[in-house]
Amino acid sequence: MQPIDRIEIVTADITTLRVEAIVNAANESLLGGGGVDGAIHRAAGPDLLEHCKTLEGCPTGLAKITPAFALKKQGIQHIIHAVGPVWHGDESQKLGYTLEDTLLASCYHQSLTLANQHACKSLAFPNISTGIYHFPKPRAAKIAFGHILGFLSKHDLPEKIFLCCFNNTDALIIQQAIDTREDWMMNRKRMG
Ligand code: ADP
Repeated sequence: MQPIDRIEIVTADITTLRVEAIVNAANESLLGGGGVDGAIHRAAGPDLLEHCKTLEGCPTGLAKITPAFALKKQGIQHIIHAVGPVWHGDESQKLGYTLEDTLLASCYHQSLTLANQHACKSLAFPNISTGIYHFPKPRAAKIAFGHILGFLSKHDLPEKIFLCCFNNTDALIIQQAIDTREDWMMNRKRMG
C-alpha cells in the first residue's frame, strides 16, 4: 500500500475514535487545558491527570506517552501528549522557515516515533496548534501531511494514520493540502 493510502481524514471528536493511540494537543505543563486537551482528559478520567503529574511537563516540540486509562474500554491503548508551538510567526515566511514550523514538524515526528516504538498500528492526530495556539490552519495542514507522509514512507508502523478534524471546514483545509501537495512539495525540494 502506498504511504498516501495509509492516511485518512476523519471529522470527529477524537475521543470517540477506535484507534490504538491518539495524540493530544497538550501544553507544556501536561496538566490539562481547554480544547482537545480538555476533551481527552474528561474522556480518560482523573487517573490521566494523576499520571501526568509525575511526568514533570514537556517542552514545546516534544511529546510524551501515557496509558489511555478510561479510554481503554474502547480500544485506545495510548495517549501521546505533543506540545505544539503557539504561533508568533510571520505568515509571509516560506513554509519551513519559521521556528513555529520546525516545532510543529517536530511534534508530528516525535508522536509518530513514539507510536512506532510502541508498535501502534493506528494513530489519530488532532490539528495540533490550530486552536487556542492560532497556528494558521493551511500552513499547519501542509506541515502535518508532509511529515506524516515522509515518516510513513520509511516505516511500516503505524500502518494507518487518521487526521482527525473537529469540523468539515478543517477537513477541507487538510484535503486541499493533500490535493495540492505536488506543487508545494516540489517548491520545498527546490528550496533545498
Ligand atoms: P492548541 O492549543 O494546540 O491550538 P486546541 O485544542 O485549542 O489546541 O485545538 C487544536 C485543534 O483541535 C483545533 O483544530 C480544534 O478545533 C480541535 N479540537 C478541539 N476539540 C477536539 C476534539 N474533541 N476532537 C478533535 N479535535 C478537537
